Parts: sequence; C-alpha cells; structure tokens
Amino acid sequence: MKHYDAVVIGSGVGGLAAGAVLAKNGLNVAVLEKNHCPGGVANSFRRGRFEFEISLHELCGFGPPENPVGSSRRVLDALGLSDRIEWARVPEAYRLITFAEDSPIDAVMPFGTRAFADALESYAPGSRGPAEKAFALAGEIRRALSDLGRASGPEEKRACLLSHPDFLRAAGLSVDEGLRQLGMPERGADIMKGYWAYLFTDCSELSFLHYLNMVNSYIELGSVIPKNRSLELTNAFAGYIRERGGDVLTDSEVTRIMCEGGAVRGVRTRSGAEYAADGVVCNISPLSVYSLLLEEGDVTAFDRKKTNARELSGRGFCVYLGLDRSARELGLENYSYFIYPDMDTASQYRSAGSTATNLIQNTVCQNAADEEASPPGTCILTMTTLFSSDVWGGVAPEDYHAEKDAFAARMISVFEKATGISISHHIEEMEVAAPQTFARYIGSPEGAIYGYKAASWDSILARKLMDGKDSDIRGLYFAGGFGMNLNGYSSAMSSGMDAAERLLGRRDAR
Ligand SMILES: Cc1cc2nc3c(=O)[nH]c(=O)nc-3n(C[C@H](O)[C@H](O)[C@H](O)COP(=O)(O)OP(=O)(O)OC[C@H]3O[C@@H](n4cnc5c(N)ncnc54)[C@H](O)[C@@H]3O)c2cc1C
Repeated sequence: MKHYDAVVIGSGVGGLAAGAVLAKNGLNVAVLEKNHCPGGVANSFRRGRFEFEISLHELCGFGPPENPVGSSRRVLDALGLSDRIEWARVPEAYRLITFAEDSPIDAVMPFGTRAFADALESYAPGSRGPAEKAFALAGEIRRALSDLGRASGPEEKRACLLSHPDFLRAAGLSVDEGLRQLGMPERGADIMKGYWAYLFTDCSELSFLHYLNMVNSYIELGSVIPKNRSLELTNAFAGYIRERGGDVLTDSEVTRIMCEGGAVRGVRTRSGAEYAADGVVCNISPLSVYSLLLEEGDVTAFDRKKTNARELSGRGFCVYLGLDRSARELGLENYSYFIYPDMDTASQYRSAGSTATNLIQNTVCQNAADEEASPPGTCILTMTTLFSSDVWGGVAPEDYHAEKDAFAARMISVFEKATGISISHHIEEMEVAAPQTFARYIGSPEGAIYGYKAASWDSILARKLMDGKDSDIRGLYFAGGFGMNLNGYSSAMSSGMDAAERLLGRRDAR
C-alpha cells in the first residue's frame, strides 16, 4: 500500500488549495479525483467555436496589484500563483432588474464603496448613510473574523468577541433585520440584497454577518475572472502540487475512508487501490463522507447530528449560450444581470421550489469583462438559477430532456422580457446543465452547487467558534464549498488553506 502524509479527496479549488499548501510545507500529498480531469466545477467545456466557463462568474477577495488584499489573494499570493494567471476585471457590480408591476427596479450598481453608496442614494433616497454604516460594519466584521481566526482556546475567543461589540451585535441577525436596524429604506434594502442569490438563503434567514462580509468583499475590491476560464486556476494549483512531488490522480474515485481507533488510516478507490495516509482532507460534502465513505461504526452521533442539521443550499441549473453577434451589437452592456420578479426573497425562495414558479436568474455576459472571451462578432451568455428543493429528482427519466429544454427556453424568454434584449434568434450553441448534471459531475447531493445554507444559526461565527474542529474522527478535515468557510471560490480556496493548516497542526486545538 502506497503511503502518503496526506490524501485529499476531490480536486475542486478547495481540495487543490489544501493539496498545494500541504505540498508547500513538504508533505507527500496525493489529490484523488473521480473525474478524468481535475478542478471540479473550476473547469470549462467547448461547443463549436465557444469555450464555456462552467461556474466562475466572479472571483471576489482579489484586490488589484496596488491593493493586494482579500481572501483569494491571500491563498494565491501565498503560493505565488497570482501572477501565473491572466486576469480580466469585471466592470461593474451588478444590474438588478425586478419586473413585478407594483415595484419595478432597474439599477446598475458600481464597484467601490463610495460609488455604490452614491448610486444607492440616487435610486433610493435616504440610503447613503445606512450604506456607509453597513460598509463600516463590514470592516469591523472582517477585523473580528481575522482576530478570531488567530485566537486559540475559549478564553482568547471570548476576549476577542468582547473587543468587537458591533460584530457581536450583528452576529445573530438576518439580512432583513440587519438592514432594518441600520435604517435602510425599503427600496435601498431591496437593491442591496441583489447578491442574495449568490448564497441562496432567503434574507429573512440569511446571516447578515456573512452576507455583508461577502457584499463588502465584492464592492470594496471589485471582482475578476481568469481570461482563460477557471481551468487556469485549476491548472495553476495542480501544476504547483506536481512541481513539489505531489500527485494529482484522476479517475480515482474514493469509495471508502479507512479508520482505526477513531483516526483515519487511509482511503480505498473504486478500482480497489488503497493509499495509507495520516490525514485525509475531504473536498466533498460531509453528507457524502458520513453516509457513503465511512463505516457506520466510525461516525459519532455528534458528527451525524451536525451534518443532518444543515440544509443544502441551491441546486444549480445553467444555460450556456454562444451567440452569433457581439455583446455590443446585441445591446448587452452589462456583465452581471440579477433578475428577480421582486425582492421578497422569502417568497422568491419558496417559488424556487418548483419549475413552474422559479423565475429567478443571474445572467452573465463574459464578453463585457473580456471582449476576447469568444471569437470576434460573437459573445457568451451564461444563465444560472437555483432550486430550493430537489424538484428535478422527481422528474421521470423519459420527461427529463423535454423538461430541461422547456425550462431553459423560459429562462431565455424571462431574460428577453426583463432586459428588452432579443437573443433567441442569435443562438449558435446552447448547452443546459440541470441539478442532475452537477450531481453526476461533482457528486454533490441533489446537485447543490452552493454548499450548505448560510443560515444565521450556522453562520461563519458559529463555525469559527467550533474551535477549528472538523470532525470527531482524528485526522479528518473538510475543505471546499461544503467546508467551514461556506461557499464560493474564495471561501473554498481559503477553507482549503485553513484545513491544510489545521492538518499541519498549526491551529488544531485537539
Ligand atoms: C454554475 C455555478 C456558478 C458559480 N458561480 C460562482 C461565482 O461566480 N463565484 C464564486 O465564488 N463561486 C461560484 N460558484 C461556486 C463555486 O464554484 C464553488 O464554491 C467552488 O468551486 C467549490 O469548489 P469545491 O472545492 O467545493 O469543489 P467542487 O468543484 O465541488 O469539486 C469537488 C470535486 O470532488 C470530486 N469528487 C467527488 N466525490 C469524489 C470521490 N468520492 N472521490 C474522488 N473525487 C470526488 C468531484 O468530481 C469534484 O471534482 C459557482 C458554482 C456553480 C456550479
């Protein structure tokens, strides 16, 4: 049996970041991936003359060279990878369109906290002051989380919390409660909630702390995309691991994590290969790990209960379109379009529990950030929506293709109606991914693409206070979108780095 110091199960950006940090620290590491190429959803695919990005619309937490801060920067700079990637800057934060007759909104929101607050004031008078307070609070949240990350043991954590009273006051609030307490007018709050679909927990439940932290990261630092798709990130990480003697093994699906005496001992793959390891980092959902990969007797009641208490976030549905006109010719002036019937997010979340009523979408025109994203005279449009329950699991196999195509057609028509831009006559290539596609490709339960819901009871604070303990099983760690830092590229990468550091013993409180 080949022995590694550490094995990582899954090669999404979270797993690759963990593998790279472990390799950097001299560990003999293997990243095992079930698919034939690494990256998880950090990947691309070709149809005709278009190369489609699978997932990455915006990478946040990546400050520009003159202000090299942010969580994605922290990971990529630590590994010396930031400059290996060619970046394109996303031009503006978002365009929010709601089309309910009683309160339509069409607001284009810029990056930069001052510009954002000014724009908010122009669309919703009385919003500037509360927006400034929100960004100040976000600064406090960032400082508190960073101090909390450094604190070890309950006493230090307690002292840290007491020295950040505003953070503590905000910790139990939902987004709706938090914005109300800041005195944000309703229309301003609606516009500020534009990003809610990125976390896909309705704002009456979504942790204010987590949402504000994310919004601030986007607005303060802007966002970027790799010009050559997220595959460039995948290749940079995988190359880094291999350059340091580590292995990134594809077609290697792990089917069993072997334990002994309450500690991991190694893993077994579908082909029967066994690898001994002192530490195992899981870049997959705890649900899969505890229910499929471990023997029942190895799982403690606490780990089972914790995992079952969490709810899956949105199940993803994407329409990838290659259009035979340039973005300019079609009038696609913006990069990111958030389109919702209205901003009653609780009701929108409920509507997203059925194909008949889900009218939410975030649509991105890649060429608005990078004119060369597709051949001259063409452009790429990617539409994403999420489902709040496993509706696609109930579709009969014989109806699947027709239902998928019908739903995709409706997303296109919602986009056309909301923006007044006609695209359906210009579709040269089209591909549709339903939750089943994601479930099959990355193995996520029910095709959930945003990990677990960021509910206020399970916010980043609650997770930080768990003292960095991933699992009752010694040597078992979690990284990625289902990990401690919640979902998204920057969170997944940071959680990979954090998991590696815990494994290295630096922050392991046990
Ligand atoms: C359509 C879409 C749009 C998105 N847009 C954005 C965005 O704009 N910005 C942003 O920040 N985030 C976005 N996200 C979220 C972001 O992509 C994820 O948070 C992040 O990529 C998660 O990475 P991960 O490390 O959890 O791994 P994943 O990408 O989930 O990869 C997990 C890997 O594990 C492998 N695996 C599973 N089971 C096994 C097994 N038993 N053995 C071996 N390998 C296994 C899978 O094949 C896969 O390669 C988007 C996601 C999607 C799907």
